[in-house]
Amino acid sequence: MSRFSVENYDRPVLDTPNGEERILLHSCCAPCAAEIMDALAASKIETTIFFYNPNIHPRDEYEIRKQENIRYAEKLGMEFIDADYDAKNWFDRTAGLEMAPERGERCTVCFDMRFERTAHYAHEHGYKLISSTLGISRWKNMDQINGCGVRAASRYPEMEYWTFNWRKQGGSQRMIEISKDEEFYQQEYCGCVYSLRDTNAWRESKGRPKIKRKVKFYGREGVDEANGE
Ligand code: SF4
Repeated sequence: MSRFSVENYDRPVLDTPNGEERILLHSCCAPCAAEIMDALAASKIETTIFFYNPNIHPRDEYEIRKQENIRYAEKLGMEFIDADYDAKNWFDRTAGLEMAPERGERCTVCFDMRFERTAHYAHEHGYKLISSTLGISRWKNMDQINGCGVRAASRYPEMEYWTFNWRKQGGSQRMIEISKDEEFYQQEYCGCVYSLRDTNAWRESKGRPKIKRKVKFYGREGVDEANGE
């Protein structure tokens, strides 16, 4: 059990915006999810993890990120929904946006796609509250993510997207601490093939070596925190 876990850390109790006692939480990866999973568990909000990320490329990168998230969900006893890896749909939907910068139009399409599926699953299974772990990352634009989340939830009259700022009240710091404690896999690019390309190009421009996938884990020797996504 993480030393920041529900049993060992004194956290503020969270109230959901619509009074719901359960939530469907879209998750992108274990490092972003763990702090939020702990916070929800500490507040006794029944949480189901919804892993839908067909943007992640290549497939073995997707699998390692997913397995790390499953490991932590099992540790907390949370249900984990392993949704489709329909990568072709993702490539179809982002066609023409291959050169868009990170946090640009392609990312809006990418968030929309993932949140629409999350909201649809929530509607089908009686959840009235959804949110996502994506917003905790300092690499992301929280307004962009919240806009996509609210838009997805607005398709269903009963549903709300929780725009809570998970970075606040020490959330960002605990995210790193838990990741080190759990030795989570440390990805070095957002996820899609274009973010891998662009991160490598940026590194090259700085005289830095290319990304080596599947070799870095938080808390182990040689890991550079500044590289985490
Ligand atoms: S950079 Fe990240 S958020 Fe943007 S399209 Fe690629 S995977 Fe999606």
